[in-house]
Amino acid sequence: MSHKVGIIGGDGIGPEVIAEGLKVIAASGIDIDLHNYDLGGSRYIKDGTILPDSILEEWRGLDALYLGAVGTPEVPPGIIERGLLLKMRFELDLYINLRPFVKEATEDTEDHNFIVIRENTEGTYAGEGGFLRKNTSHEVATQGSVNTRLGVERCIRYAFELANKRDDKHLTLVHKTNVLTFSGDLWERTFNAVATEYPQIETEYNHVDAACIYMVQDPKRYGVIVTDNLFGDILTDLGGAVSGGIGLACSANLNPEKTAPSMFEPVHGSAPDIVGTGQANPTAAILSGALMLDFLGEIEAAKKIENACAKPETQKGTTTEIGDAIAKLVTT
Ligand code: ATP
Repeated sequence: MSHKVGIIGGDGIGPEVIAEGLKVIAASGIDIDLHNYDLGGSRYIKDGTILPDSILEEWRGLDALYLGAVGTPEVPPGIIERGLLLKMRFELDLYINLRPFVKEATEDTEDHNFIVIRENTEGTYAGEGGFLRKNTSHEVATQGSVNTRLGVERCIRYAFELANKRDDKHLTLVHKTNVLTFSGDLWERTFNAVATEYPQIETEYNHVDAACIYMVQDPKRYGVIVTDNLFGDILTDLGGAVSGGIGLACSANLNPEKTAPSMFEPVHGSAPDIVGTGQANPTAAILSGALMLDFLGEIEAAKKIENACAKPETQKGTTTEIGDAIAKLVTT
């Protein structure tokens, strides 16, 4: 069966890395029915289009979305992020942001993988707030954090289910309950209530500042981490930095009930500084493609791609050379 996938190459190195991702998916033998969308900073500059509702409606008929990177230096910050990426997350209810990490073996440790589950539709990113007396000396700016029982609980439940599938059966809640005493309290109470249904899972709580230290010094203590939108955004960049760098960090924006297509993208941005030079590592995009195949039920192909990306010999050369090397391993 062919999967209907919307492709948004986007800006900068986005189209370059997505081309390699599609090459590897084709090599895996999985049939994808491609639907291309020209969106992102360049399109916005051309004709003002960001994300029309008509395109959102079209997407509802697709199985998944595969995105490279959006944003160009010429477009002021916030326009594409809010108008395209955040709109996509909110409208398609992509409430789980999943980012897997592998901390590579050192002389005295083995490879260790851990996953961060970030709530993707609420918190400080929900857009609650505003200005009062803007551009005066008495200006006020507020930015609220929206936390609903439904939003928090469905995210926490997803994390427990994921932890339950892993051998380590370990789940850590990360927040800042000692200072954020309202939202933190809701997160902690919900976490503890859901935990009673999973006695086999070992649970732990870390303040976010402590988690930043542990993630650098002792990432092995983590199996699955669940956290809110803002803390998750920051913590996952740190996770990328401690585990192989930005060229390897992949992500999934999931609607677990599949009421709308989920979206898969590398964590890195459009990297305008290396566009067209062949220096962009496509592995993060290729691994995001593997997450997409896994979500579409093509588990064997996903595993094959993941294994190929982990082979050091694939991680040498230009963008297309890395893509070719991974594609070759996937076909053999
Ligand atoms: P954006 O505004 O779109 O987020 P950015 O340049 O601020 O773009 P990134 O695109 O994440 O942020 O780039 C940060 C740095 O990492 C840049 O120096 C870039 O060249 C490098 N980089 C990003 N992605 C890759 C990649 N896939 N391979 C190699 N280097 C990369």
